Amino acid sequence: MKAVVYSGYRELPVVTDVPEPACPAGGAVVEVRATGVCRSDWHSWQGHDPVALPNIPGHELAGVVASVGPAVTRWRPGDRVTVPFVCGCGTCAYCLAGDAQVCPHRTQPGFTGPGSFAERVAIHAADANLVGLPESVDFVTAASHGCRFATAFRAPTVHGRLMRGDWLAVHGCGGVGLYAVMIGGPASSAPTSSTTRRPSRSSPAAARTCRSTRSARRSPPSTRCGRCGGAAGTCRPVSCSAPPPPRRCPWT
Ligand SMILES: [Zn+2]
Ligand SMILES: [Zn+2]
Repeated sequence: MKAVVYSGYRELPVVTDVPEPACPAGGAVVEVRATGVCRSDWHSWQGHDPVALPNIPGHELAGVVASVGPAVTRWRPGDRVTVPFVCGCGTCAYCLAGDAQVCPHRTQPGFTGPGSFAERVAIHAADANLVGLPESVDFVTAASHGCRFATAFRAPTVHGRLMRGDWLAVHGCGGVGLYAVMIGGPASSAPTSSTTRRPSRSSPAAARTCRSTRSARRSPPSTRCGRCGGAAGTCRPVSCSAPPPPRRCPWT
């Protein structure tokens, strides 16, 4: 099959012929119909997140199940699916508690094994990790969800502990930040505010769901929370940009 491969860090990736992926006993081989390019792919290509070389990158995928291993019970060839950024083993205590993202046996296409910049990709623990797609969701849309939605999900819902009426301030309007806005608002009926150093990113996507969007370069007002505009102490800040997340609203 064809795949995008790089043989060394920062070396030019090439499209070349590679062997078909083997189907894990509890996994599936997915025929890739759409795959996204993520900053994480760039990090592995740079060598910041070491991978075995040569490597096929790609983890934001959607496609059709081509084959399943003998231990798989929930899926069969022809099913339309996508996957989260981190695939858990499905059986350890973390996975059973719903925390597959920190599973000690987790796998990630493009990092722990060949990724989705290929015609087909192997996914481990298919019963735990594959997510079925309704016919109404096209492959390109689905491929954009698995990484950024799963990455953003726990920030507003678990770590931010959003409660009804809280303001949610999302700092950074890249893919993860926009999904934090999408998840946080409906999860708590929270008014949301977003800040970005690149105003073009916040419009129009953030504007559809945010009470306000602000430039991170703008000086905050002194009498109100400068990030979200709410009363001091009511803001739940979520950082989806490069600096580490603040433990409390930095403007109050
Ligand atoms: Zn990604
Ligand atoms: Zn696990």
